Amino acid sequence: MLSYRELTSGFRNLGLDPGRPVLVHSSLRAFGDLRGRAAVLLGALTSVFPRVMAPTHTYATMVIPEEGPEHNGMAYGTGLALNALAEIYRPDMPADRMMGVLAELLRNHPLAKRSMHPILSLAGIGVDEILAAQKIKDPVAPLHDLYEAEGYVLLMGVGHSVNTTLHFAEKLAGRRTFVRWALMPDGAVECPGYPGCSMGFDKAAPYLADITRSVQIGTALVRALPVREMVITAATLVREDPLALLCDDPACERCGAVREGVIT
Ligand SMILES: [Zn+2]
Repeated sequence: MLSYRELTSGFRNLGLDPGRPVLVHSSLRAFGDLRGRAAVLLGALTSVFPRVMAPTHTYATMVIPEEGPEHNGMAYGTGLALNALAEIYRPDMPADRMMGVLAELLRNHPLAKRSMHPILSLAGIGVDEILAAQKIKDPVAPLHDLYEAEGYVLLMGVGHSVNTTLHFAEKLAGRRTFVRWALMPDGAVECPGYPGCSMGFDKAAPYLADITRSVQIGTALVRALPVREMVITAATLVREDPLALLCDDPACERCGAVREGVIT
């Protein structure tokens, strides 16, 4: 079983500037024998990177309206069953399971703060200003701040398909965004600027290889990327090819809407 010391020395081996903010995406399972010891992983992470954050998205708040704007990458009126299961957002709502055990543990840390978005919140320690930048109308604002602060993205046992910061690159390149709706105590709230699909983001990996630092910690491959260089590279890809980084699922509604917008 991996020790605290093996974890901290693994993180230090990435050679990152510990003063800069880090956005982490992780799969605890990738560490194999770490099951049940997520707190050790979080402790090691925060001891090496005192400014750390993770997405704590809450997709359970989303509802599908009967109608809405055109080219919005969604089939209106199909949410009858799902809408009935939707939950009203509250600031202490647990992060979606797919955000991973570590993100939820970070959210529950006594020093952690959480941003305010009813679907796309982030939680973190030592990043209060970055989290405060998020607005309902500008969900990716914290990623812009992470870029300005020359922070890092840490992918621990996961690929670029969860690399949320690439959505900021899409925004810089002028790619279409969407409107979604979330249940709040006063009813459904419109959430504009909702990013597209990220299932094709692994296509960016070869272009980012030169700036990616990797270490193996136990069974997990941990990769770190400097946000500024990563975003500039990915935004250039999308500017040069408006179909870059889209997924290959012909049924994908958001990638389909982006393709439609490029062709028409
Ligand atoms: Zn897609």
